[in-house]
Amino acid sequence: LPVLAVVGRPNVGKSTLVNRIIGRREAVVQDKPGVTRDRVTYEAEWAGRRFKVVDTGGWEQDVLGLDASVAAQAEFAIETADAVVFVVDSTVGATDTDEAVVKLLRRAGKPVVLCANKVDGQSGEADATALWSLGLGEPHPVSSLHGRGTGDMLDAVLEALPEAPKQTFGTTVGGPRRIALIGRPNVGKSSLLNKVAGEERVVVNEIAGTTRDPVDELIELGGKVWKFVDTAGIRRRVHLQEGADYYASLRTAAAVEKAEVAVVLIDTSESISVQDQRIITMAVDAGRALVVAFNKWDTLDEERRYYLEREIETELAQIAWAPRVNVSARTGRHMERLVPAIETAIQGWETRVPTGRLNAFLGELVAGHPHPIRGGKQPRILFGTQAGTRPPRFVLFASGFIEAGYRRFVERRLREEFGFDGTPIHISVRVRE
Ligand code: GDP
Repeated sequence: LPVLAVVGRPNVGKSTLVNRIIGRREAVVQDKPGVTRDRVTYEAEWAGRRFKVVDTGGWEQDVLGLDASVAAQAEFAIETADAVVFVVDSTVGATDTDEAVVKLLRRAGKPVVLCANKVDGQSGEADATALWSLGLGEPHPVSSLHGRGTGDMLDAVLEALPEAPKQTFGTTVGGPRRIALIGRPNVGKSSLLNKVAGEERVVVNEIAGTTRDPVDELIELGGKVWKFVDTAGIRRRVHLQEGADYYASLRTAAAVEKAEVAVVLIDTSESISVQDQRIITMAVDAGRALVVAFNKWDTLDEERRYYLEREIETELAQIAWAPRVNVSARTGRHMERLVPAIETAIQGWETRVPTGRLNAFLGELVAGHPHPIRGGKQPRILFGTQAGTRPPRFVLFASGFIEAGYRRFVERRLREEFGFDGTPIHISVRVRE
């Protein structure tokens, strides 16, 4: 199996990240300080591909001393790994030690995925963007603690790792698309799952010869096989008295992390709630393609429908770009619209705009609608590039600070021009001095 090494200074969150990658629930048992551990290797799987992860986290407490330990990790990684995840604490930024490791890694020529860790809040995005300065390409904003961004980072890792000997999982190239069915309790997740699964449901164990919970289910819909992830939590309706919301939200986060597309169910028989919005925010923050399914449509009378439309306008304005389907898990109404909506969302999520087209568009936009003048100066967007997909990520270079209102305007125009239905898009702006 290909080998991935996780490297970084002490306390940047390597062990937490390794736990995320290998899907381990328990906290790492810390060895006593000063005790030298052997290197630890785990097996991990992502998107149907398996690889080995070398945890160098324990080396932090080596008797070697800090710098020696970091250097040793880097050297080890260079010698034995096929690819390296280099973890940087985005709240601290790039330190001299980080720069030194970058030099070592560069010289070795192994593919490096840059993990900007501890991006826990909104403000963290900017910190992550600052790490472009390391010259290792795009920093992947991650919160190892909460799981945010680890899926995207792992996608990049898979691109960097050499193909393992042939895997036979999945029915299509890259495996079936992964869907998370999410929503607050009683919106009808389990009913919808049963409806779409119908008689077609196949429960497949990913690893031959083992019996497992039907955590992920393969379901054929619209002529294709889809993987509904983490369905055990939907089917087994555990009712916990205390902390039920907490566990429900953990489950949602885990499902979202594993998925490519989130289908959020809303119960139209009730008002759209803060909890609905929180769930949507989770999916958007995780950068997943998004479809909103308004369930229990069979219960709507004219009055409720009137208010629902108002609620959608006010409460769901931030995801006006998400495809909507009005369904009833009970009657089966409009079930066939689910797949086209999912496909639209995936398409937007994977769209790549060629740099030439993007800059032609930006040039026209800036000429027609310049940024307001501030302090006698006019900040301008100079050029841009799409740094990634799934979801689309843009980096714009500007001559001065670009205000939030103008950023929103640019996003709106980008969406009008290039589509992006069903996907969040990320825009970061770098000011060139
Ligand atoms: P979950 O907690 O999200 O999995 O929700 P369930 O699937 O268990 O559904 C909760 C309740 O809503 C059950 O009583 C279902 O029968 C009901 N329900 C689900 N979908 C619909 C629907 O489309 N129409 C109506 N009228 N009831 C529904």
